[in-house]
Amino acid sequence: MLKISNYINGQLVAPVSGSYLENVNPAEGKVYSYLPDSDARDVEAAVVAAQTAFQSWSQMPLAKRAAILLKIADLIDRDLDQLALAESVDQGKPVKLAKSVDIPRASANIRFFATASMHVAAESHLMEGEAINYTTRTPIGVAGCISPWNLPLYLFTWKIAPALASGCTVVAKPSELTPMTAFLFSKLCVEAGLPAGVLNIIHGLGKKVGQAIVEHPLIPAISFTGGTVTGKTIAATAAPMFKKLSLELGGKNPNIIFADCDFEEAIATSINSSFSNQGEICLCGSRILVEHSLYDRFVNEFIKRTQALPVGDPLSETTRLGALISEGHMQKVLSYIELAKQEGGTIACGGERVKVAGRCESGYFAAPTVITGLPQTCRTNQEEIFGPVVTIMPFDAEEEVIAFANSTAYGLSATIWTNDLKRAHRVAHQLKSGIIWINCWLLRDLRTPFGGMKQSGVGREGGWEAMRFFTEAKNVCVKL
Ligand code: NAD
Repeated sequence: MLKISNYINGQLVAPVSGSYLENVNPAEGKVYSYLPDSDARDVEAAVVAAQTAFQSWSQMPLAKRAAILLKIADLIDRDLDQLALAESVDQGKPVKLAKSVDIPRASANIRFFATASMHVAAESHLMEGEAINYTTRTPIGVAGCISPWNLPLYLFTWKIAPALASGCTVVAKPSELTPMTAFLFSKLCVEAGLPAGVLNIIHGLGKKVGQAIVEHPLIPAISFTGGTVTGKTIAATAAPMFKKLSLELGGKNPNIIFADCDFEEAIATSINSSFSNQGEICLCGSRILVEHSLYDRFVNEFIKRTQALPVGDPLSETTRLGALISEGHMQKVLSYIELAKQEGGTIACGGERVKVAGRCESGYFAAPTVITGLPQTCRTNQEEIFGPVVTIMPFDAEEEVIAFANSTAYGLSATIWTNDLKRAHRVAHQLKSGIIWINCWLLRDLRTPFGGMKQSGVGREGGWEAMRFFTEAKNVCVKL
């Protein structure tokens, strides 16, 4: 069975411990490869390599640095089919989704930041007749990048690309649940001629490898995407060391449907925003709030379309929902459905594990689930489930729905469906979420700030925000 390697100082290497962890194909519920059970020793070797490489990488002419990154992006496109298949097998998502979204976005991330790096300009402030200030931005050093399992290569590249394009070198850790495409990516880096030590990928557990990266005194910046609880641990470790932190955390996003919306568009997009990637996207709208006069019609149609969604083998072209990431996660999702029942909710459809015949009979599948009749304050409506489960609640007034939408500890994204232009802007302005979509969902311009308020995160990724994060500003004041 395949053993995944770490990527340190340009080499594909075994972990110092010699130990490996099992990597499970969630659609089959079976181990299909092994990943390094790395520890602080591997992280140490990676940091030494990254520090050594920093000198030349940070000083390499921009165009040359960008050319190497663009070559990696081209190789991702060349290997689209192979990478999409690997992502689907490793993560459980439909291969069709991996091919149309995850992998194309990975190369787009790299291309976006590689080219952006050539457009960076320094700021200058003139003090009339007195002095001129200019501000330089230099790469911060070795960056630590830690990513989750839901969009593996997509989010891995979203983190490392701005770091590398800014001139940082990187020690990165993909999720232990989805190491495969980062491993294949490391091979592409070798093929593209990325200099040794510029990017180092260490596989293993969060508590060992992730923690060692966050604790390392020679890593001054940590870019993390994952759960809010992990984010708190990382912040507690990094804050006393005065590290720069970018935290992209969980969400419990409202999807607000006013009665004057384009019904067909709202319902079709809401099916996507609820169940894409099995609901395992931080931006999924898990609380659907529908204006009373449209409520019955919306709920009936939404249930009908949810029940028609094919759940099954991720490798089938017709599958819309594949497997959940792990048995543990599937149990967590199912336990929230039980909780919803205890809290007085009605399971309008779904609510159970799905048994898929054949190859996938032991896989971790759950039916897309719609729950009605719950109060806003219950745990089901307050906590992130991160699976194919949505609640639908009615509302009467605009102020009421704004209060409902803002009632959780999270503030990542929100969607508003209405044809009333003034109301759309008014509501958007009052929602405490970092990302608002009006009459659309997941329409992403990579130049825009990306991130959440409240417990959904600290800082923003995307465009210049990400490039600024990986650089230090220095102001030079020259007396005239
Ligand atoms: P997680 O927090 O369990 O793990 C994320 C990463 O952190 C993994 O690589 C893990 O190994 C590592 N890690 C775990 N403990 C660590 C520690 N103590 N120190 C350092 N690293 C550690 O999250 P997950 O279950 O992989 O991902 C799901 C979560 O990610 C959800 O909450 C989801 O909302 C969130 N998410 C947020 C965004 C966003 O952009 N805001 C995007 C995708 C996912």
